[in-house]
Amino acid sequence: MSEPDAPSPEIDDRWLEQSRKTVARTELAPRTRSVGRVVEIADGIARVSGLPDVRLNELLHFPNNRTGFALTLDADAVSVVLLEEGTDIEAGTPVTGTGEVIRVPVGSSLLGRVVDPLGRPLDEGEPIVAEETVPVERPAPAIIERDLVSEQVATGTLVVDALFSIGRGQRELIIGDRATGKTSLAVDAIINQKRSDIISVYVAVGQRATAVERAIAAIREHGAPERCIFVVASAAEAPGLQWLAPFAGFSIAEYFRDKGQDALIVIDDLTKHAATHRELALLTREPPGREAYPGDIFYVHARMLERAGKLSPELGGGSLTALPIAETDAGNLSAYIPTNLISITDGQIVLDSRLFASNQRPAVDVGLSVSRVGGKAQAPSLRAVSGRLRLDYSQFLELEMFTRFGGMSDTRVKGQITRGERIRALLIQPRFASLRLVDQVALLAALADGVFDALPVETLAALRPRLASHLDQTATDAVSAITPDGTLDDSVRQRLVAAVKALADELAASAKTPQPAGDAP
Ligand code: ATP
Ligand code: MG
Repeated sequence: MSEPDAPSPEIDDRWLEQSRKTVARTELAPRTRSVGRVVEIADGIARVSGLPDVRLNELLHFPNNRTGFALTLDADAVSVVLLEEGTDIEAGTPVTGTGEVIRVPVGSSLLGRVVDPLGRPLDEGEPIVAEETVPVERPAPAIIERDLVSEQVATGTLVVDALFSIGRGQRELIIGDRATGKTSLAVDAIINQKRSDIISVYVAVGQRATAVERAIAAIREHGAPERCIFVVASAAEAPGLQWLAPFAGFSIAEYFRDKGQDALIVIDDLTKHAATHRELALLTREPPGREAYPGDIFYVHARMLERAGKLSPELGGGSLTALPIAETDAGNLSAYIPTNLISITDGQIVLDSRLFASNQRPAVDVGLSVSRVGGKAQAPSLRAVSGRLRLDYSQFLELEMFTRFGGMSDTRVKGQITRGERIRALLIQPRFASLRLVDQVALLAALADGVFDALPVETLAALRPRLASHLDQTATDAVSAITPDGTLDDSVRQRLVAAVKALADELAASAKTPQPAGDAP
């Protein structure tokens, strides 16, 4: 509004009136940015007073570019988890709030990279130029924003895909004792995504640096690392970073989900994350509950895993599948953290140390494992040939126990045992030997038709590495007829079984004929 040079008395009044209103609306209270002070500091946790407006998970600044986040809010002070180790913070150090919860850069520029939970590169690459930054804690999609889980995540591991099929958007826990192949199973699932369009995020929490390096190297060598992101907070990092890692991983993976893509997140592992949470909570003097974990550990993991899911078509139809890993102690599934995680997730794949020791690898306990969602999402062709597998196998395991003590030699039982031994051999799968959908369908169809029953069990191990190329050469059109959403045609099935039979017979025959000794005539 331009001011008239010589205001008439009438205009002057209106102008005055306007000005009065403007002044009345103007907030004259001084705008302050509160600066708190460190009251005490120990073990990477600072108690800070004088920040009355601080929010949970708010990023706080200390001098010298040091940062931390608010973990617990009490009436008189805030407990702040420091994100870097150091000795320059002491009682009296000023702390400023940012009014912002902690954020992580997300976007396609992270693909192929190894980053820490704040998005800082840990590989030799250039700094990350993020498309945007998002809070590490974000609300999970509401029920109405979700769709049914209807497509399979092919892990390439026969026992998982056939018996405990995982759907896109599902949360499936991988749980077992130390060194039972948990990481291997998850890493193999990521590797198999070289055959799909799924983006994978591997989050390492509290792992030994060598184990993390091994996992990353395996994915780089065998998988499609350009479609993977590695978020690493190894055991040597500050507990605050380890605590943040899975949340940051989810935010990074959600970027792809929200763009309508499919993403897969592996968290290795949530037992270590729970231990970090317990450590931080005890240091902030939260009262300990069961097994000394603070009462909110269930809520921490539930709200994290709730972020996985399949979005409705209106929201782009993207999905985020979560494979959290948990470690058990002496197979004790009823400990606090395992029971929590089992009740949060949509199923669990239980790895058993005795099976692992008896060379049944992957050491999946078929009786204790379950997938509560993915069965409906299984590829129809695979479902057509795997229907009876679990029942046959469980019956065999029981029969085997009985027959071990002698007796029971009727032919039906013998037949069940012969079949069961072949199922067991079929479910053994070395690492980095993922099977395509068509390989899985062909093997299970041949099994159901009794192709392997007359052959020695050892034939199956020899068959697997040669199967893919054999099918490609001798049953080319049957191979291309098997698609993730297509059904299994009878003629296709017959051709696949015939091809497997030809290869199996060939292997059995060559095993029987004595190898010529030496190459002398
Ligand atoms: P940790 O508790 O230390 O994290 P983990 O349960 O993640 O262990 P892995 O590190 O994945 O177990 O595997 C332990 C060992 O078992 C590794 O040496 C791995 O190579 C081997 N292993 C895992 N799966 C298989 C398999 N299918 N076939 C053969 N060896 C396997
Ligand atoms: Mg591991």
